[in-house]
Amino acid sequence: MTAPVRVVVAGAAGRMGREVVRAVHGDDGCQLVAAVDVHHVGEDAGELAGIGALGVPIQASLAEAIATGRPEVLVDFTIARAAAANGEEALRHGVSPVIGTTGLPSEAIERLRALAAERRIGALIAPNFSIGAVLMMQFARQAARYLPAVEIVELHHDRKVDAPSGTAMRTAELILEARSERDATAPVAEEIRLPGARGGDFRGIRIHSVRLPGYVAHQEVLFGGPAQTLSIRHDSFDRTSFMPGVLLAIRRVRSLEGLAIGLEHLLDLG
Ligand code: NAD
Repeated sequence: MTAPVRVVVAGAAGRMGREVVRAVHGDDGCQLVAAVDVHHVGEDAGELAGIGALGVPIQASLAEAIATGRPEVLVDFTIARAAAANGEEALRHGVSPVIGTTGLPSEAIERLRALAAERRIGALIAPNFSIGAVLMMQFARQAARYLPAVEIVELHHDRKVDAPSGTAMRTAELILEARSERDATAPVAEEIRLPGARGGDFRGIRIHSVRLPGYVAHQEVLFGGPAQTLSIRHDSFDRTSFMPGVLLAIRRVRSLEGLAIGLEHLLDLG
């Protein structure tokens, strides 16, 4: 049997981080060796995650956590600024980053790409670890080749700080890559009575962000064609929906050559 992958979780006191602590602990293929957060420093990561003490205290510094825990993989669910710095720190120490944090600026992504290539270390940024959501994005990409007119509606809980979601942006990028023509319908001169009513415009694709309590993470990709519509919808009802994807990424990230963006790079989609 191969040794379990040694994992450090950054943002371990957060909502996603606690879920990752539970998932990593419950998986034979992984071992939680360190946990990092700016809050709850000194508390046990397992206690925080509600699974009892694991003997892994929350540390304030990722550099120290890497030095003491000797992880092979970093899982990061923090905030954009921290995730970029954490990813670089990990790569500089030969640790493969798996970044779930959304909203990283493109310059930060390019720095991570260059560093991963230079050090020849596998790294992953995945805006969505839900395998169902990844399939939704792939199906949307396929549909866009034939139905170029599209809008995206994403719905999340009201604690989410960034809008639109990373998944919505990624979906729009995939659609733009796939469709050869812009929406062919002649544009009408719209009368916008309320700014934002038509959503945000991402290179010609409208993205609408809904924030309400009760939602977790949902997205609908709406295609329109002559006398027909196609809706592709995915719903995550609980953060556990992300965990099979996170565990898959932990197991496979080191097989990547450099930085990949999107969990689809680790899935066999035929
Ligand atoms: P959260 O606010 O509950 O948790 C974030 C945690 O990061 C907090 O505990 C905070 O103290 C910690 N943190 C902040 N700065 C830090 C730093 N410099 N070093 C270490 N820890 C630091 O947020 P959340 O709901 O867990 O979401 C975290 C991120 O994950 C967001 O960007 C969110 O959009 C993203 N997310 C991604 C997916 C996905 O599938 N990729 C799914 C859900 C959420």
